[in-house]
Amino acid sequence: MRKVAVIELLAALLILVSCAKVPLTGRRQLNFIPDNMLTQMSLTSYQEFLSANPPLPKNNSQAALVNQVGVKISQAVEEYLRQNNLSSKVGKFSWEFNLVEDPTVNAWCMPGGKVVFYTGILPYTKDEAGLAVVMGHEIAHAVANHGGERMSQQLAVLLGGVSLDVAIQKEPALTRDIFNAVYGVGSQLGTLAYSRTHEYEADKLGMIFMAKAGYDPARALSFWSDMAAIPGQAPPEFLNTHPSNSNRIKAIRDFIPEANKYLKNQ
Ligand SMILES: [Zn+2]
Repeated sequence: MRKVAVIELLAALLILVSCAKVPLTGRRQLNFIPDNMLTQMSLTSYQEFLSANPPLPKNNSQAALVNQVGVKISQAVEEYLRQNNLSSKVGKFSWEFNLVEDPTVNAWCMPGGKVVFYTGILPYTKDEAGLAVVMGHEIAHAVANHGGERMSQQLAVLLGGVSLDVAIQKEPALTRDIFNAVYGVGSQLGTLAYSRTHEYEADKLGMIFMAKAGYDPARALSFWSDMAAIPGQAPPEFLNTHPSNSNRIKAIRDFIPEANKYLKNQ
């Protein structure tokens, strides 16, 4: 067999074995990146970020609230995974919840469950349930491995579809930049917007997680409606990476009855 044909065959096989299913929606997603590599990379990026942006102390009241909401949502996530035959995913998360002093309107969750909120988003989340909306949504992106999927797509576009270990070897700085852009951390490449498909999935999963944690999922509707209605100027960072429109708001509204079924104590 010609060498090229062998490579093509291997690539086809890789695609077959690298298709994973997204929880809830069952959508098949392409993912070339082994979980352990992604987690390793996220830990490096996370430590670098925290060194440059020391989080507020745990006794800071706002940081404590972010942590409290994070603990509740993460417990709901683990319960959801166990109840849906996805217990193997639970061990992939080693949760940490931080608040950093930064006016940027942003929040993210890396693979492995490392969460950072920026103080700039607090005027928009307003209350504990508002924090739960963003917490649930960001963690949902991580649970659905949207980052790994986006990383695979970006490596294909920018580096011709090489595997992550080859990319790290050949283009370490660019690979790290792609990672940070994909996860909304900010990089030379700026940040990348999640696709409509990813947003819809993260909205639904996020609303289920917040309901299971005891928060009213309808708060997602008011949060995203408020975000979309921010007047003038450039849209905040968070809206760039999580683009919204009337169809998305409608989908959130339509999903409230379903999410309500997961409400704790009902
Ligand atoms: Zn999103």
